[in-house]
Amino acid sequence: MTEKKDKKEKAVRQPMAEQAADVRRHNFEEVPLGYTPEAAMAEASRCMQCKKPACVPGCPVSIDIPGFIAMVAKGDFNGAIRKIWEKSSLPAVCGRVCPQEVQCEGKCIMGRKGEPIAVGNLERFVADYEREKGEGAVPEKAASTGKKIAIVGSGPSGLTVAGDLLLKGHDVTIFEAFHKAGGVLVYGIPEFRLPKAIVAEEVAVMEKMGLKIVCNAVVGRTVSVDELFEQGFDAVYIGVGAGLPTFLNIEGEQLIGIYSANEYLTRANLMKAYLFPRYDTPIVKGKDVVVLGAGNVAMDSARTALRLGADRVRIVYRRSRNEMPARAAEIHHAEEEGVEFFLLTAPLKFIGNEKGRLTGMECLKMELGEPDASGRRRPVPIEGSEFLMDCDLAVIAVGAGANPLLTQECPDIHVNKWGYIEADPETGKTTKKGVWAGGDIVTGQATVIIAMGAGRDSADSIHKYLTWGW
Ligand SMILES: Cc1cc2nc3c(=O)[nH]c(=O)nc-3n(C[C@H](O)[C@H](O)[C@H](O)COP(=O)(O)OP(=O)(O)OC[C@H]3O[C@@H](n4cnc5c(N)ncnc54)[C@H](O)[C@@H]3O)c2cc1C
Repeated sequence: MTEKKDKKEKAVRQPMAEQAADVRRHNFEEVPLGYTPEAAMAEASRCMQCKKPACVPGCPVSIDIPGFIAMVAKGDFNGAIRKIWEKSSLPAVCGRVCPQEVQCEGKCIMGRKGEPIAVGNLERFVADYEREKGEGAVPEKAASTGKKIAIVGSGPSGLTVAGDLLLKGHDVTIFEAFHKAGGVLVYGIPEFRLPKAIVAEEVAVMEKMGLKIVCNAVVGRTVSVDELFEQGFDAVYIGVGAGLPTFLNIEGEQLIGIYSANEYLTRANLMKAYLFPRYDTPIVKGKDVVVLGAGNVAMDSARTALRLGADRVRIVYRRSRNEMPARAAEIHHAEEEGVEFFLLTAPLKFIGNEKGRLTGMECLKMELGEPDASGRRRPVPIEGSEFLMDCDLAVIAVGAGANPLLTQECPDIHVNKWGYIEADPETGKTTKKGVWAGGDIVTGQATVIIAMGAGRDSADSIHKYLTWGW
């Protein structure tokens, strides 16, 4: 009887407290509030400590998940964060934004009969605990090698390369186009999902380890890749992401009140437009907002629009719920906050008034047909189903591509037909000697942890090159 009760209790994960939906939709503060030490230990004690853990291969950077969880179960939070640091330099970030449901947690054996271990919540807990109550220690570095590495872009892939190469004793400098380091973590993902102070603190740990960051430096414009070698760098890593917005190319897309998600989120996050005029970047605050797309970027845009004061926010997506690419948690949070979903609906054209301002959108209803090349069922227009949707702000979140600025200036770095850099999938080596690339600029828009995994492989290869040659 007790064993049965114990099993039943173990099937359910420890919940994490959250801000109530009707409160949080009016503020930019973080939504989940984190575990207490007691809840973290209780959650960790659910782990079966499998002999052949499936969660570890499910993690793109192979964190010793059962190892750190065993330490949490015993209350050794110091040991747990050190275990994670062996493989990841951004645990507070990954604990918050990784799609754990399709990675580590998706493989957890506990998920077969109940809920998988909350690996992400535990990772977040130990990283936050270390930040708030830890010893403020920084990971130990090897002796200086005297080798200099330039990293272009300070997103998760660039930061991972930096962290790994610093540990190996190299001298690392990041060149970043924006005025702040962090890539999408600071300009894309909103404060209510990933507080910027957390990214800043993870970057600060690396600065304590000796990392130099040169901001407002656009490689390809301010300085070229070849000039970096002339300045004495021994190797260059390119992690510039895929930040070039994709548009719908439909009538009326130039109207006032239409933003790419990239611009909308950058204005709101990095430039703090929600605090205008205290900060000098304005933003159109729509009352009736439509967001085109259904990935994480679309959910972030929709939830940002609510927080900027919209009365109504609709996600418009041409496929069905099953095909929505956003993380399940983000869809759930958006829905709880009141975002509406207009599925199987495609925009045909935007409509404006005599002042050139957006007033509506003509749409068409769709149905699902046969699967396309991506394996997802193709949306097929329903003839004669056109209808009008009023709106005064539209955010286009249908993907992003490679910015050609750097590669056009350095043509010996080869790119594929979409402009993404050709890099060896195991080592990250490009077609130019001494230059590596990884993250979204190689794969197209993917995830934080995949970008970090690419960074880890490249850092390993760069270290071998600096030790033994190309
Ligand atoms: C709004 C949004 C939400 C997302 N949500 C999630 C999520 O919940 N979970 C998840 O796992 N993934 C999410 N992603 C995807 C994830 O953020 C990316 O896959 C990841 O950030 C890619 O990392 P990266 O290092 O390759 O590039 P980025 O993070 O894009 O960083 C590239 C950096 O390079 C800089 N740069 C560009 N060109 C130059 C140049 N010429 N010179 C110098 N610097 C340059 C850029 O300014 C930027 O700082 C999201 C993406 C967006 C846009």
